[in-house]
Amino acid sequence: MAKITLDNLAHSYLPNPGGEDDYALKELNHVWGDGEAYALLGASGCGKSTLLNIISGLLHPSRGRILFNDQDVTGQVTAERNIAQVFQFPVVYDTMSVRDNLAFPLRNRGAKPAYVAERVQAIAKMIGMEDVLGRKARGLTADAKQKISLGRGMVREDVNALLFDEPLTVIDPHMKWELRTQLKALHHEFGHTMIYVTHDQTEALTFADKVVVMHDGRVVQVGTPEELFERPEHTFVGYFIGSPGMNLLDARVEGATAIVGGTEIPLGADYGRPEGRVQIGVRPEFVTMAEGAGGLAVRLKRVEDVGRHKIIRCDFEGQAVNAIAPEGAEVPADLSRVVFDPAAVNVYSDDWRVAPLSRKGVAA
Ligand code: ADP
Ligand code: MG
Repeated sequence: MAKITLDNLAHSYLPNPGGEDDYALKELNHVWGDGEAYALLGASGCGKSTLLNIISGLLHPSRGRILFNDQDVTGQVTAERNIAQVFQFPVVYDTMSVRDNLAFPLRNRGAKPAYVAERVQAIAKMIGMEDVLGRKARGLTADAKQKISLGRGMVREDVNALLFDEPLTVIDPHMKWELRTQLKALHHEFGHTMIYVTHDQTEALTFADKVVVMHDGRVVQVGTPEELFERPEHTFVGYFIGSPGMNLLDARVEGATAIVGGTEIPLGADYGRPEGRVQIGVRPEFVTMAEGAGGLAVRLKRVEDVGRHKIIRCDFEGQAVNAIAPEGAEVPADLSRVVFDPAAVNVYSDDWRVAPLSRKGVAA
């Protein structure tokens, strides 16, 4: 197992990159803690696979260094890095049995037969394939083959890190949950450094202790699920995570007040006078229907009943303002005002969160 340090890393697929736009991975400095489980979350095309392949050595970065426990591995090929990587689509040897496929990474490293047998049995149990160990991989479903790929990724206990690149894409939904649970169990048991790539926020938030959110070739936030929910550092984190995501409204901010349209909205802290494109962000969970004349004037568009709660979809001058209300809440047809919980309102300048100067009532 290893701590993995990315030092001034950047990557462009172009031979002579010019500006930032030419980089699939923009400059990145980050330390992946030894033995921690991370999810790497972001929309398709944001650079997740590029980053993972640089860590595993399948791709050589245009700039920067990769260190495993302070040893520079930038020049090492994948085999020397001692890493297990599982890809989106199955990589199995069709002519080999399931057993031999699972045993391959161990035998390849010269493991003793008794250990190989024991380990293959344990992994087969984890992926639910004990009954088909003797069968050839050829002819198995894509789903089953992907489980073999996962098993092969997990079979070695001595790897520096386990990298998963959207490994459950071809797996059916129920088995997805099952396998994710197994991966978590494996992490608890062996404490490998794990990086799990996904574009699915639920998968990311349930798998990992820490989520690394990428957007447009950049890591925009590293945080616990709570931190991503409460204090999105970038507007992308705000609207990508959550269902629906954070409401964002153009505003002017003066101290502890935001002015949206002509309406003054109290904030939970003093933010000074941020410049650039200023927005306030508030999650639908902290938006309530106004009683009386206070709050922001909105237009009610529709109410969605999603079982455990209702999503009230409104609009303020073309910008979405959504609220989440309890299951039994009555939503008046003439709802026209909503209120934000001041403590839950974040302030953004050019998409990045502005740190408050002081909390209300607390000396700076
Ligand atoms: P993700 O895994 O998040 O979907 P990728 O890392 O695959 O994203 O891709 C990041 C960006 O780099 C995308 O714009 C993609 O088109 C580009 N890209 C990926 N692989 C290559 C390649 N081999 N050659 C050129 N461009 C690539
Ligand atoms: Mg990818």
